[in-house]
Amino acid sequence: MPHITDLNQALFDRAKKVIPGGVNSPVRAFRAVGGTPRFIQRAQGAYIWDANGQRYTDYIGSWGPMILGHGHPAVVEAVQKAVLEGFSYGAPTEREVELAEEILRLVPSMDMVRLVSSGTEAAMSTIRLARGATGRSKLIKFEGCYHGHADALLVKAGSGLATFGNPTSAGVPAEVVQHTVVLEYNNIQQLEEAFALQGREIACLMMEPICGNMNFVRASVPFVKRCRELCTEHGSLLVFDEVMTGFRVALGGAQSVYAQAIPGFEPDMTVMGKVIGGGMPLAAFGAKRAVMEHLAPLGSVYQAGTLSGNPVATACGLATLKEISKPGFYDALAQKTRALINGMSQAATAAGIPFCGDSEGGMMGFYLLEKLPQNYAQVMKTDSAGFNQLFHGLLDRGVYIAPALYEAGFVSAAHTDSDIEATVVAAQEVFQLLLK
Ligand SMILES: *Cc1c(COP(=O)(O)O)cnc(C)c1O
Repeated sequence: MPHITDLNQALFDRAKKVIPGGVNSPVRAFRAVGGTPRFIQRAQGAYIWDANGQRYTDYIGSWGPMILGHGHPAVVEAVQKAVLEGFSYGAPTEREVELAEEILRLVPSMDMVRLVSSGTEAAMSTIRLARGATGRSKLIKFEGCYHGHADALLVKAGSGLATFGNPTSAGVPAEVVQHTVVLEYNNIQQLEEAFALQGREIACLMMEPICGNMNFVRASVPFVKRCRELCTEHGSLLVFDEVMTGFRVALGGAQSVYAQAIPGFEPDMTVMGKVIGGGMPLAAFGAKRAVMEHLAPLGSVYQAGTLSGNPVATACGLATLKEISKPGFYDALAQKTRALINGMSQAATAAGIPFCGDSEGGMMGFYLLEKLPQNYAQVMKTDSAGFNQLFHGLLDRGVYIAPALYEAGFVSAAHTDSDIEATVVAAQEVFQLLLK
């Protein structure tokens, strides 16, 4: 939209002087797609408004947490009430107990949880606990899966199975990632080789069950089954990082989806974030009692947090969990999400553009590819120039999707059928333009 004064640009220029890159989390800077990031002024329901007063239909939802849409009245009320009672005490509260009970009721693979403030913190603490509980050092992760920015997890694949990975960030010494083994997602053979080679040293295997940080790649059922079997066989802990998928793809998380295909399936440890805070800084990690009792003050694995279990954040999380627990919530959400992917797919096909997409619950992803990718290398083959045109075409038409090819998208309960239809119409127009 042409503006005489672009207030987004003015804010971005100002921000760049005082904040590295002008943003507090890199993907917000629009580096991958080019252009000026939108500075958001307010949000309501399925919409956000930028500094110019331009409205967008929001398919990012704060990268997942806003499953009810923005400013849900019951959540706002709970937060307002909590704020009046104090912001933070640094002492235990009843609400933390209530939230922990509620999480355990919904995700029964865990007997106990600890609340923290970010997914990064939850994943980092999970690794420490897994190492402490098993007395082992190595961990397995998969290329393309993101588990936050703790040092040991910022790793890409090394040159072979016997070698360790390479840091993906400056400031992470090679020694710090020497215990991190990076494997290809959905590659059963590599997984078996890695366990055969060093199974007895592996504390845990951490995975995104549906990888939202490669846009949307499902772990295949046989792959998850094999991960489970090999961890059990070798005494390693299977960790599901459900920071994105937890309460997003289903009320019981991705583990409940895989349990339908693999009877009795459970991970040993679960990492959660995003939706459980409903937009406030809140995350959690949990496991069976025997593992969780290794944590301080009961056990010798240290973990702590000044703002952990914050009373305002827990009020927001509890109110959110209450709404999403209502009957039919996920059916309605899944139907809308599927309608969007199907609509976009038909629009692309009509324009003769390669397109494929997938969704589960309120999480979705699509690629300008003929066939859904299974791993990072295949995801990297996506047409990034085409994606960038699609991104900007949609943005110009008031549709806000993730400003990066490798990020999942999210639909909220506040999106109406007509919001979805309008987005499909916008996509139709952009696909026609892409042909030219
Ligand atoms: C977002 C995310 C994290 C990190 O959570 P933060 O709250 O951003 O620190 C970890 N794991 C997965 C799967 C995520 O999607």
